[in-house]
Amino acid sequence: MGVRSSLAAASAGLALAALTPMASAAAEPKPAPRLVVVIAVDQLGSNLFNQYRPQFTGGLKTLASEGLVYANGFQAHANSETCPGHSTILTGKHPNKTGIPTNDWLDRDSRQLVYCFRNTANTLADGGPGDNGPVGPEQMRATTLGDWLKAAGGPTRVYGVSGKDRGAIALSGQKGDGVFWYLRNFGFTTWVEPGQNAETRLAPVAALNARIKARFAAEAPGWTYRHDACRKLEGEYQIGGQTWKSALPPQRFAVENSPLLDELTLEAAQTLLTEQKLGQGAGVDVLGVSLSGTDRIGHGTGTQGPEMCEQLLRLDEALGVFLTGLKSVPGGAIVVLTADHGGSDFPERSAARGFPHAGRSDLTLLSRLNANLRTQFKLAYDPVVFDGNGLYVFGDKGQILPEKRRRQIADAAVALLREEPSVAAVHTLEELTAPDVGLSSLPQWANPEELTLAQRMTLSAVQGRSADIQIALNPGITLGPGRVGGTLSSHGSVWDYDRKVPIIFWWPGVTPQERFYPISTIDIAPTLANILGVWPPEDVDGRCMDLSDFGTPCPRKIVTP
Ligand SMILES: [Zn+2]
Repeated sequence: MGVRSSLAAASAGLALAALTPMASAAAEPKPAPRLVVVIAVDQLGSNLFNQYRPQFTGGLKTLASEGLVYANGFQAHANSETCPGHSTILTGKHPNKTGIPTNDWLDRDSRQLVYCFRNTANTLADGGPGDNGPVGPEQMRATTLGDWLKAAGGPTRVYGVSGKDRGAIALSGQKGDGVFWYLRNFGFTTWVEPGQNAETRLAPVAALNARIKARFAAEAPGWTYRHDACRKLEGEYQIGGQTWKSALPPQRFAVENSPLLDELTLEAAQTLLTEQKLGQGAGVDVLGVSLSGTDRIGHGTGTQGPEMCEQLLRLDEALGVFLTGLKSVPGGAIVVLTADHGGSDFPERSAARGFPHAGRSDLTLLSRLNANLRTQFKLAYDPVVFDGNGLYVFGDKGQILPEKRRRQIADAAVALLREEPSVAAVHTLEELTAPDVGLSSLPQWANPEELTLAQRMTLSAVQGRSADIQIALNPGITLGPGRVGGTLSSHGSVWDYDRKVPIIFWWPGVTPQERFYPISTIDIAPTLANILGVWPPEDVDGRCMDLSDFGTPCPRKIVTP
């Protein structure tokens, strides 16, 4: 209360009030931290976080029991995927403004899928094709907290590390100093711009990569039980006509699909912290850490088996070590933990456990839609293409149709899809983005809990990138057939099991508390900007939340609920 009450008193002409015993030494505001660590746990939705919360003993327990916990955190938008989710966390903007609607989109001219962080001008430092081709931050049409600190003139350094390129890039923004992600059989890699040298770019992780290589050469990595409680979750399931045993060791082991991935990523974060002396320079430094293991394991084996149990308990342990390492930062760091999206278990196990509405999407939907459109428009080809996120309308040779014709077919497709029992909502991109239609007119700082499906879809809609037709299936429906050894469960829906995520702030001396009013991941960056004394761009979507210890109440023009 110290600074806040003294400011209020000063404005009332009672400047001496600051010297009264009320403003005790104990209420001295905490200096702004010199290091911001933002941790995004890929696919760690609120459901999963709360389910395992009583079992955590390490870093996740520290954050959850000592931190400022927002129990109703949201990724507010509809397309709850990794790229858009990560793009909201440090930009303060919804995906419709970050320009990252989905993980990929279809380029309408070439009909090629475009990866969210594709940059064909670059190469990869490892010399290979990578998982997603050459990448870079340029397709994101927004700046991050690290960019704002740099623009403000501070000698800020920004580092990002992840199991996936997109996790590290989105958190680091446009001007990251070192952005690294794990690549199997190589170690941590990055992109190389024309004129840059791969070896120089990899220098901050070169010793780490050599260490990992030597470790795996001395003893082949593997994955077996460490927690007996997890073994009890074993089971056998029928998926896509195949029998699959959920147990450890996994049938096909890979480092990047095991708890080792996050352990390596946190080791890389620790390496950057130590070797770059983050938080010990003249400015505020930013370290983004995106932990991909929970997502890989969620997709491959679901969320309710022994694999996820082992993953989360080991992540908890590794995070505990990492948080202890942060104690070496003078004055301590401020840590934020959140997620890019949630998720759910694979529908076969969900259905067996009392969620009979859980199921897989109707694979005939697209062909039935195209058959109806062929008849209606007397076409000799299928006009609608599905890219995994939405539906596009094309001509007979894959060409872009004249606008009037494209709209006619899109409107007819929407009308047909509205009759489908498994479809909860369907809109054309124009409906979601045209200012005169009304769907896009959101109240300022709308409660993420109360957004309509159309409003959620609007927050994901990007003209020129999003599909022509945005579709939401009923809750409990998992897209795709489910393949043992491939993807069993997924996320990406408009529903809260995919949207709701933990948002926790933690710093040395924080008063543990739980706040229940709903906030969104877009509120993280404006909140951090406020305590660090930088202004976010004018068009930022998020709000500032009061982190009381720092004596920096949110500016009056930003509403604090
Ligand atoms: Zn993800």
